[in-house]
Amino acid sequence: MTSFRLFAITTSAAVLTAFAFTGRGQQPPSRVTADLVIVNGKVHTVDAAKPEAQALAISGDRIRAVGTREEINAWIGPATKVIDAHGASVLPGFNDSHAHFVDGSMLLSQVQLGDAVTREEFTRRVAAYARGLKKGEWVLGGGWDHEKFPGATMPTREWIDAVTPDNPAWLDRYDGHMGLANSVALKLAGVDRNTPDPPGGAILRDAGGNPTGALKDAAAGLIYKAIPAPSEERLTTAIHAGLDEARRVGLTSVQDISHAAEMRVYQKLLRAGALTARFYAITPIQEYQAQVDAGIAAGFGSDWIRTGALKGFADGSLGSTTALFFEPYNDAPDSHGLFNAMMLPEGHMLAMAQPADAAGLQIAIHAIGDRAIHEVLTVYEEILSRNGPGPARGGRRWRIEHVQHLRPSDYEAFARLGVIASMQPYHAIDDGRWAEKRIGHERAKSSYAWRSLLDHDAKLAFGTDWPVAPLNPLLGLYAAVTRATVDGKNPGGWIPEQKITLAEAIEAYTLGSAYAEFTDTQKGSLTPGKLADVVILDVDLFAIPPKKIKDAKVMTTVVGGKVVYDSHHLIGIVEKSANPHPAP
Ligand SMILES: [Zn+2]
Repeated sequence: MTSFRLFAITTSAAVLTAFAFTGRGQQPPSRVTADLVIVNGKVHTVDAAKPEAQALAISGDRIRAVGTREEINAWIGPATKVIDAHGASVLPGFNDSHAHFVDGSMLLSQVQLGDAVTREEFTRRVAAYARGLKKGEWVLGGGWDHEKFPGATMPTREWIDAVTPDNPAWLDRYDGHMGLANSVALKLAGVDRNTPDPPGGAILRDAGGNPTGALKDAAAGLIYKAIPAPSEERLTTAIHAGLDEARRVGLTSVQDISHAAEMRVYQKLLRAGALTARFYAITPIQEYQAQVDAGIAAGFGSDWIRTGALKGFADGSLGSTTALFFEPYNDAPDSHGLFNAMMLPEGHMLAMAQPADAAGLQIAIHAIGDRAIHEVLTVYEEILSRNGPGPARGGRRWRIEHVQHLRPSDYEAFARLGVIASMQPYHAIDDGRWAEKRIGHERAKSSYAWRSLLDHDAKLAFGTDWPVAPLNPLLGLYAAVTRATVDGKNPGGWIPEQKITLAEAIEAYTLGSAYAEFTDTQKGSLTPGKLADVVILDVDLFAIPPKKIKDAKVMTTVVGGKVVYDSHHLIGIVEKSANPHPAP
């Protein structure tokens, strides 16, 4: 408990003066002092101009200086708070380039099935949750993964019907590309044996042709239509809980796959001083015209809330066998996967993306299978030829979300077209348990191809896809560096040649993510003048074996110069002991 404590400087004024004269460069103008100083850190800046340092000084919401202990001592004045990092890593605040922040936040108070590994447990949790609801209220939540059930059995409505006779239920698979409805929900949504599979979706059916309750991709939309939208009050409560979680894991920026209702809540929280992470709202591409009409372009907004990015879908997911491949699935030889409905008919995605791009909006398209990734690159290529060089400031910074299984022949297109690979390293160590069963070893060799993408000069941005994966960025760093699957079966790494270094992984999770949202000049590295978003860990990540990275903890999170999380609840003590020196 005491390995981390706030550092109260007891040196004399004379010593301070001596430090002030020996420090080189970055000296504060006379009488200017920092509000917050972090000393004794292994400061990994992600700034090539000064990669390592011991200390940094913050005033207001900006980083003012980064340097040696002596250099930074010169910034300490009577009101400066000083934190001793005790030799642990000090990093730029993490920036999750792809999170479903509201879904994750809501899930914190819904049915949690992520670690339910048997039918009995699944049923028990749904029953316990349903007991707390009024008749007719929806049972929502999920996070289940049928690969964890004995025999990888797909759940059916029979698992939950008996415990939810009076409540509709919809329980998402953890990847969000499939879900389980109970009979009440199917009835409410009007889904029965006569309902055809919608384009880009599938209704799983039993031998008698009746829906089993499991619905894939576009078919899930039939149920979504029947679920009432949460009230703003409910959203606000959920987002408060989500922000709590974000502070705890050192996330200072979140690129949120979001909707208009959430934007309103973020603004409300910002006005109330309760927003402790910066948000980049990535909204549905189908609604692009509203953004074009409003004159919004990529990066519109403030340091706290920005928007101007559009999210589309090209396919489904590997786990749901809906990711789209050139070759069939090894374990489903009659299927290549599915185009998302947005790709149908041919040219539909282009018809949305091209005018949006011309208006300066950023395009981010979900693509997981090699064919889907290739098709999205083709869409970008076509936009380039029609719209010409990038209209948005600093270029257009197209993105592909996930980029999980791509063909080596497509590596080079990322750098050539300036497409950012927005990837979630944790998926590799999770899906890596069973991915080869679906796609075989050959296709797996260029799956989650971080090494190859970097070697082909592609830009990487890292995130989680929360709640699909845990929100904790340290698990992402661990995954990128080790590729050790969560079942413990690949301790040397699944496709180890695609591992990247810790420094590369940190950069993708900070500066790379900032680049992906047009904010790399404002954040993403510990550089004087940038926003003071900083995390302090409990260990020096570079000094421990890679397999221990997953156990590292965030001790302190600083956003815009404010300590918003301190694991030892010492902020109060900081305030009291913040006066180490008498005024000169
Ligand atoms: Zn996602």
